[in-house]
Amino acid sequence: MMTLDDARAMVQSAVSVLDPIRIARDDAIGAVLAVDIVASEAVPPFANTAMDGYALIAADTRGATEQNPVRLLVIGDLAAGAAPHQMIRRGEAIRIMTGAPMPQGADAVMMVERTERDDANQSVLIQSAAKSGDHVRRAGGDVDAGTVVFAAGTVLRPAHLGVLASLDIAMVEVVRRARVGVLSTGDEIVASGALGPGKIRDSNRPMLLAMVAEAGCEPVDLGIAPDNEATIFAAIRVGVDTCDALLTSGAVSVGDYDFVKVAIERLANERGGEYGWQQVAIKPAKPLAFATVRGASRNVPIFGLPGNPVSSHVSYELFARPVLRMMMGHTDTALRPIVQCVAPRGLLRRLDGKLHLDRVRVASVDGALECERSGEQASNVLSGMAAAQGLAMLSDGEGVQPGDVATVMLLSDL
Ligand code: AMP
Ligand code: MG
Repeated sequence: MMTLDDARAMVQSAVSVLDPIRIARDDAIGAVLAVDIVASEAVPPFANTAMDGYALIAADTRGATEQNPVRLLVIGDLAAGAAPHQMIRRGEAIRIMTGAPMPQGADAVMMVERTERDDANQSVLIQSAAKSGDHVRRAGGDVDAGTVVFAAGTVLRPAHLGVLASLDIAMVEVVRRARVGVLSTGDEIVASGALGPGKIRDSNRPMLLAMVAEAGCEPVDLGIAPDNEATIFAAIRVGVDTCDALLTSGAVSVGDYDFVKVAIERLANERGGEYGWQQVAIKPAKPLAFATVRGASRNVPIFGLPGNPVSSHVSYELFARPVLRMMMGHTDTALRPIVQCVAPRGLLRRLDGKLHLDRVRVASVDGALECERSGEQASNVLSGMAAAQGLAMLSDGEGVQPGDVATVMLLSDL
């Protein structure tokens, strides 16, 4: 049996990054920048105040205290969005609101809480000494014009889109999203509706389509193929011709009707490519059929995931998701975040030479992470996967004694 690390290295060695594409910034969430972005202007574009208060000359407030305030003449008012037209001279101040441009001559802002207005005398009492620059946001303090604001390889998050908008950048060059085909297999699998004898509904396809979308790919529904070699072969060939990567589920173990293995191998032979079938030393998700097959313009990785829904889910997480992300320009090939959690009830297991990936609920209890099994651990019990926030990674041994710490790969927010 292959170790998890070796199996991951094997599937990752076959990956190449997709081409760049120019798309609207507002469609680019989660995408990876293909080129550096250089700021053509400064953000903020002008010096402005970070506080509601009074723009003034710091030197005028020397020695000011609550008992011994300094009186300044208020010569005007500046709201955010206003253009300053008055210049401040010694002994003067301008009432100013957060975001309003600094008037000429002023070098500091005194927050309104340290002032007392004297309207009768058109003046304000300043109750503390300002330093030059106090509460002034300089032009370019966020982004300086001419600098690389985001380097190629940056994953665009909401804050990145906000910065791009502040620079009036509406189009971005990113690595394009992978089109990922998802095919279910099995004579017993139906999409929906009443169940005939021996039939069950397809849970893998909707689950995998959603997982692919969550990873930032474009999901392509390839439907359900019955356990028939020719039909499975035809469906996989269509997938290779229309997608950048394929996920199939079922028909990869050692049953009599496990035609996915046969079909992938045949396609790899016909088109050119590599095929391999592995037993990985993990539980669940032991069998893994993997191929790269020459598609229309590039090599298409095909993941033959196991049929049991929990196995399918876990196999996708461990093998397919990192590869799909690498195709889309992510350079981080690691798994999801891995954390240490106390297991108050323990996570005991039997010795079998495999890495166990137990589905666990994870919660933050008094600032520390705790985990416990999220139900029955059989590989068909998908409700236990749904209830889990993580996979406890239990290497071969006795597992984790009650109160000891487990290593957990987080699958979602807590
Ligand atoms: P297989 O690897 O094809 O023998 O499938 C293993 C188990 O997973 C069997 O019990 C199948 O009925 C089940 N299974 C396979 N595909 C799906 C699917 N798409 N949705 C739900 N269960 C499935
Ligand atoms: Mg099957």
